[in-house]
Amino acid sequence: MKVLVINCGSSSLKYQVIDSETEHVLAKGLCERIGIDGVLTYQPAGQDKIKYEAAMPAHRQAVELVLKQLTDPQNGVLKSIDEIEAVGHRMVHGGEKFACSTLLDEEVLQTVEDLNDLAPLHNPPTLVGVRACKEILPDTPMVGVFDTAFHQTMPASAFIYALPYEYYEKYGMRRYGFHGTSHKFVAQRTAEIMGKKPEDVKVIVCHLGNGASISAVDGGKCVETSMGLTPLEGLIMGTRSGDIDPTCIEYIAHKEGITLEDTMQIINKKSGVLGISGVSSDFRDLEAAADEGNERAQLALDAFCHHVVKYIGSYIAVMNGVDAIVFTAGIGENAPLVRKAVLGHFKYMGLEVDPINDSIHGDECMISTADSKVKAYVIPTNEELAICRDTVEIVTKKTIEDVVKKVLG
Ligand code: AMP
Repeated sequence: MKVLVINCGSSSLKYQVIDSETEHVLAKGLCERIGIDGVLTYQPAGQDKIKYEAAMPAHRQAVELVLKQLTDPQNGVLKSIDEIEAVGHRMVHGGEKFACSTLLDEEVLQTVEDLNDLAPLHNPPTLVGVRACKEILPDTPMVGVFDTAFHQTMPASAFIYALPYEYYEKYGMRRYGFHGTSHKFVAQRTAEIMGKKPEDVKVIVCHLGNGASISAVDGGKCVETSMGLTPLEGLIMGTRSGDIDPTCIEYIAHKEGITLEDTMQIINKKSGVLGISGVSSDFRDLEAAADEGNERAQLALDAFCHHVVKYIGSYIAVMNGVDAIVFTAGIGENAPLVRKAVLGHFKYMGLEVDPINDSIHGDECMISTADSKVKAYVIPTNEELAICRDTVEIVTKKTIEDVVKKVLG
């Protein structure tokens, strides 16, 4: 089955076409500056990337241009758009309504829309993208894969905030967690590599990218995660503060004489390792600056690792043990120094880092020694493939149900 995977932002749209049988990416690309002017990037497998300007006043035109490009007689990868048998959409916030991926019919879209208050920046553009796709491909099944879904198995003791309970009841204020598609994919792959069933392993997944989160996965189910009501909570990130005393927000607004909205911008966009270092949000820049003796860049790296260690330690306690600690996403896959600094704190449990760690940049690899009691791995995440797999599963199930219904009358 050929699946179009779409990830919509407010002014961007990332896409991939994946052949679900081979799990090969046939083409991928990005539409940027939607609603401004429009730039399309397109890369068929094994060929050079092409990039050109094209008017994209709204997401609908972006989707039309992507389909035109995919079916282009010269460098397209599809003969016609009918070859797309399903579309998988990355959805950000499913609240408590979606604990798994689902077919996107009008009722479901309305439910997602009702959750817009929980993710005002992310859910509305996603819905715009889905509706644009539905208009252009009205007969193609669409599946929504939610960032929050995998974390819905957390027990109430882990997700409840110690606020007046009525805020949970009235406004849905609780920990939801994000990057769920990645945490699920990596946790499942960890069990596979270890030659065990997901039910039999305790895994801590460290998704360390520009946005960063950690989850504790016990027996295949998420029992804790570091992000909260929004992706702001938890680890120190590229530009997000992660955990701080909430009073800091009032204090900054008061001292700087700025509004709550402006303060939140600072907490989201100017904090994290960028805020500490004053250098960059990118770990490559931070490592280079620290090597040259920049003390604040070093402090940002140290603080980042310290928080990762703190979370891992607490999640080991939550699960009453751990079998594997796994690193993924931009920093997790590419920064051996971060992995080494973090894992050095778990020597006491019999986790020995293998020197191979130093040479691993983006490849799947065990980075603990073979006789290590607790294992450590680098496992590249692949959210698009995870969305494709879920999409195929849901569409196939629906097709079977339809056939059975028809046969039984
Ligand atoms: P992501 O959000 O998963 O795409 O991760 C992006 C982040 O990964 C960048 O901002 C960098 O901080 C980090 N990163 C990417 N490549 C490297 C590298 N070779 N060494 C250290 N950090 C890296």
